[in-house]
Amino acid sequence: MTEAQAKAAATGKWWTLSPTMRISMGLVSLLIGLLMILDLVLKILPDQRAMTMELREQVSVFLAMDVRRALNENQRDPHLDQRLADMIAQSKDIVSVAIRRDSGAIFAQTPLHAQTWETPPLGASTINAIVVPLNAGALRWGQLEVAFRSPWPATLAGWLKQPTVQLVITLSSASFVAFYLYLRRVLQHLDPSKAIPERVRVAFDTLTEGLLVLDVEGKILMANSAFRTCHPLAEGVLLGRSVNELDWLIKGLREAPDLAPPWTRALSMTEPILGIELDLTQAGGESRRALVNCSAVRDVSGHARGCLVTLADVTALDHANSQLRIAMAELQMLANCDPMTGCFNRRAFFAKSEPMLAHALKTGEPLSCFMTDIDKFKLVNDTHGHAIGDVVIKKVAAILKEAMRPEDVLCRYGGEEFCALMPGLDQDEAGRVADRIRAVLEREVGPSVESVPNMRVTSSFGVAQLGAGQVSTILQLIERADQGLYAAKEAGRNQVQCIDWAGQTH
Ligand code: GH3
Ligand code: MG
Ligand code: MG
Repeated sequence: MTEAQAKAAATGKWWTLSPTMRISMGLVSLLIGLLMILDLVLKILPDQRAMTMELREQVSVFLAMDVRRALNENQRDPHLDQRLADMIAQSKDIVSVAIRRDSGAIFAQTPLHAQTWETPPLGASTINAIVVPLNAGALRWGQLEVAFRSPWPATLAGWLKQPTVQLVITLSSASFVAFYLYLRRVLQHLDPSKAIPERVRVAFDTLTEGLLVLDVEGKILMANSAFRTCHPLAEGVLLGRSVNELDWLIKGLREAPDLAPPWTRALSMTEPILGIELDLTQAGGESRRALVNCSAVRDVSGHARGCLVTLADVTALDHANSQLRIAMAELQMLANCDPMTGCFNRRAFFAKSEPMLAHALKTGEPLSCFMTDIDKFKLVNDTHGHAIGDVVIKKVAAILKEAMRPEDVLCRYGGEEFCALMPGLDQDEAGRVADRIRAVLEREVGPSVESVPNMRVTSSFGVAQLGAGQVSTILQLIERADQGLYAAKEAGRNQVQCIDWAGQTH
């Protein structure tokens, strides 16, 4: 929107001139007035009237000399009228000439002289009627009267061709353009905040929220001190500049890139635009965020006259929120997981088993469980100490976790006992998985304890499947798997025992 359009939109009158235009016109009038006064005093413009008068007097004197010659040759030439007509035929400016005796009688004249001649008052020549005395010796004999056309144009076009008029027109238009362009530039950089009373500005500066006052075109009329401190580039924000030139502000808006800025939208809407996220993070600096609210300021007739933009810094709130989220996650971790191994504890395990059980019962998909226990672990503690025992438990947990699929749930069931639920696997498949894990444990756990050379750690597994032998709750399933584990211990450890439908181990 141009300045004039904005103005027209604001006032509803298309002919309203902008202040810049009015000031420019005033300055042009002053300039032309000054030029007129200077000309009056110093005569700086050429005086066309005086120049024309002088020229006409000279022409008339030359004519008089010709007439005198003709009169001397022959006092009464019968062709004198014709000679006079020939003399003036050369000039377009001369309308008629006549020779008048002192008595007032016409001696000779060209046609039209009687109609065109206007006797000048007091006998002195005027610009249209020049009188040259004709003397016979020392005595006045008569006078030559030369009637000229008026030097002033009769039409508007004629007037416009006058050098003085052209000078004034050219000077006015050129100076108007120059003043207008200069003022437009200068007024942009003048402090428009003068338009906002000092006490209002002081009040705005006490606000903790950043505040921008924009005009209908988005030019900044005021920026309070909180706004100037919200970003390093905000400090030098120039009043009168368009807010859309503030790259850091535009780029920080967390909105679709094809959307007009919120202040532009607010100007065309009755509702304010609230809570637009603004990222104020600077390169290499800590993350800072604000919320932008925009609402149009309207006059009594409802026309938008400007827009108020506020910036609420929510960095601290955001920071507190994210810390709360971290604390919540930590709490959840503490409530659900065993701190030493990071595996779920029993409480979380049973909570997670509920939907798995419901799903298996509903769909009939298999659900298997294994229970594992480190063999002769007491001996590890007794021989190498509790710390080494802990290292062994952690390594076992890590290998178990690594072996789990995302849908499996693993928990530390007791001291060196772990339990896992594996949806979708029947007893045989679960048995094979358990045996693969058993082999990995045997191969990797002992050698991982560097401080104890040639250490050997094995584990036993018991596997059971939901539905087999009336196993229909998680606890029953775990009990069955525990029976398998017991059988594995009995059978010599470092092995997997599955409990089948009939309760037989194998
Ligand atoms: P078995 O092969 O029959 O399972 O023999 P075991 O020695 O492993 O027997 P048992 O399961 O009775 O022994 C478990 C031992 O594990 C007893 C306990 O002191 C130890 N233990 C339990 N929790 C921890 C722990 O967090 N750290 C350490 N270092 N030891 C633990
Ligand atoms: Mg054990
Ligand atoms: Mg045990």
